[in-house]
Amino acid sequence: MSKVLVIGAGGVSSVCVHKMAMNAGIFGEIHLASRTLSKCDAIADSVKQRTGVDIATYAIDAEDVPALTALIRQIAPKLVVNLALPYQDLPIMDACLEAGVNYLDTANYEPKDEAKFEYKWQWAYQERFAEKGLMALLGSGFDPGVTSVFAMWLKKHKLKTIRLLDILDCNGGDHGQHFATNFNPEINIREVTAPARHWRDGQWVETPAMTIRENFDFEGVGPKNMYLMYHEELESLARFVPELERGRFWMTFGDAYINHLTVLQNVGMTRIDPVVYNGQEIIPLQFLAAVLPKPETLGATTKGKTNIGDIATGEALDGSGERTFYIYNICDHEEAFHETGNQAISYTTGVPAMIGAAMMLTGAWAGEGVFNIEQLDPDPFMAMLNTQGLPWQVKELAGPLQF
Ligand code: NDP
Repeated sequence: MSKVLVIGAGGVSSVCVHKMAMNAGIFGEIHLASRTLSKCDAIADSVKQRTGVDIATYAIDAEDVPALTALIRQIAPKLVVNLALPYQDLPIMDACLEAGVNYLDTANYEPKDEAKFEYKWQWAYQERFAEKGLMALLGSGFDPGVTSVFAMWLKKHKLKTIRLLDILDCNGGDHGQHFATNFNPEINIREVTAPARHWRDGQWVETPAMTIRENFDFEGVGPKNMYLMYHEELESLARFVPELERGRFWMTFGDAYINHLTVLQNVGMTRIDPVVYNGQEIIPLQFLAAVLPKPETLGATTKGKTNIGDIATGEALDGSGERTFYIYNICDHEEAFHETGNQAISYTTGVPAMIGAAMMLTGAWAGEGVFNIEQLDPDPFMAMLNTQGLPWQVKELAGPLQF
């Protein structure tokens, strides 16, 4: 039984902390700290009501490294699970190094003034973690996270090489709002409005945001339009699957979402540079995020399913030539809400964060330095997905996507 400190108190954290409490044999003591104490307390109350487990809560600004280091030292956890925002990744890694504690997150670092998410800043911590004998696990959510574990499981059990990889992220949920994002609006809109990049023959190919669209029939959801996007696991997959010829990421969006986003972009509301309003500097996207529905309030009304998975083509392990496999999970928004009080987007991220933490705390995954999830054995993680609410399926397709 181990002690863990979770930072951040949004939807992903809520799911993760509930699932940790449901696995008390692994997570013996759970501590939760975030900027707003009342949000930590609300999660702790719900966990107590649903599972009977007590959670200790704290207020912390995770960008204040000395204060966070002091808190980590006071609690003395075996692991810090970072479920705050990507902006806090580096300060939380710094505090973990100072306090001598392992680290896990679900999204790579992004500077506040530049919509540019890349692993380079966190990969640069490799030596410092290794020197201290500590482990940092990057990207243990669904995408990034499970989508990379899916690829590595196929590479271990079905394919000798992966030549073509398509990651398909479909949210068939309907929350009944005109426009809302399913996770942090600021991070979500920065991601969606960034240029689309995909990996082809050893280099990145860039196309304007949301311009390449295809239709795909998702099991459990039906046909949906999906758009080519850049997503951070493409960077780590290109590094750890060196034979990859083409890696692409697709996400579904409805016409209403696209129309709203286009207007917001056209009028300048998605800008991330400061503008002066009434003598005060504001960042339009942060103001927009403040007026949009909070993702954690969407759970009660969201119906439908998500279907997220990988289609991988490569040389079969058994020497039977080139084959294509589709591996995916289907998650139901209402079932997710019933179990933890959060919708499926938070659920599909919070559960893998808990599983990654369980891998590190039980020693199933161990190492010194900074690791992406592709570097670790997929089998124990895949087994826990099946028992912790995210069962997966794999089927063979006739061939790769025809687009
Ligand atoms: P939310 O915005 O709902 O929650 C973020 C939490 O972090 C809030 O409680 C917020 O506090 C807290 N926080 C922000 N700044 C600080 C700070 N300086 N110090 C301490 N706490 C802070 O986000 P989500 O729960 O939707 O997402 C959490 C993380 O998961 C994000 O990094 C997101 O990118 C990632 N994610 C990953 C996915 C994946 O599949 N890999 C999918 C979805 C999300 P406050 O309440 O005061 O604002």
